Amino acid sequence: MSLLEISGLSLSYGSSQALFDVNLEIAPGEVVALMGRNGMGKTTTVKAICRMLPSQGRLVFDGQDLHRLPSHKAARLGIGLVPEGRRCFRDLTVRENLLATARPGDWGLEEVEALFPRLGERDSQRAASLSGGEQQMLAIGRALMTNPRLLILDEATEGLAPIIRQEIWAAIARLKRDTGMAILLIDKTLRELQQVSDKAVIIERGKTVWSGDMAALPADVSERYVGV
Ligand code: ATP
Repeated sequence: MSLLEISGLSLSYGSSQALFDVNLEIAPGEVVALMGRNGMGKTTTVKAICRMLPSQGRLVFDGQDLHRLPSHKAARLGIGLVPEGRRCFRDLTVRENLLATARPGDWGLEEVEALFPRLGERDSQRAASLSGGEQQMLAIGRALMTNPRLLILDEATEGLAPIIRQEIWAAIARLKRDTGMAILLIDKTLRELQQVSDKAVIIERGKTVWSGDMAALPADVSERYVGV
């Protein structure tokens, strides 16, 4: 059974329609890359999944129709979002930021700080004093502290130094290897996405135009819709 099932998803910003027909499925433990050029609707799809914006169509998580649930309840079903722009509380310490989102489960402070040792070293530092890469690790840590069954990473490596990007990709690979967490990834670097993802879904102007095993993604399709 799918953990997340999306079909015929549509969404409008006022009178401007952004999503027309998004189709996407994620099985438990699966890593899926959501790809497409800038402005094609990836972040909007994520906002619909997290019920930050009203949408229409089929949107089912773990057998529950998300459209029938108020958004605060949907958030508790086990969807952990690492939003674009790595938001955290700048005036709180690393530890306080992590504890603020904690829910019962396997992931606690110790586990997050083992995944990202830099966070352990900066445990009592204010988030505002962290580098961009460390703030991104903190944002991922905050999502993990909610003990999600689906982790969504929206451009988690954007704008970071190569060495930090590598650390984040290594952490994603470890999550895939060591946990049963499903992961939805949005990122601009195809090579890394190909290494870690089981499946790919490509959207173009708010519609799914290709989906399947990442290993079967034809080069002409990625060139046409992703631009590589
Ligand atoms: P990027 O890689 O640039 O983040 P994306 O694939 O995530 O792109 P979205 O941000 O989902 O794309 O944008 C999809 C469409 O919706 C675009 O045409 C965009 O201009 C429009 N859009 C996004 N946010 C808003 C908003 N708040 N109000 C109106 N239109 C919006």
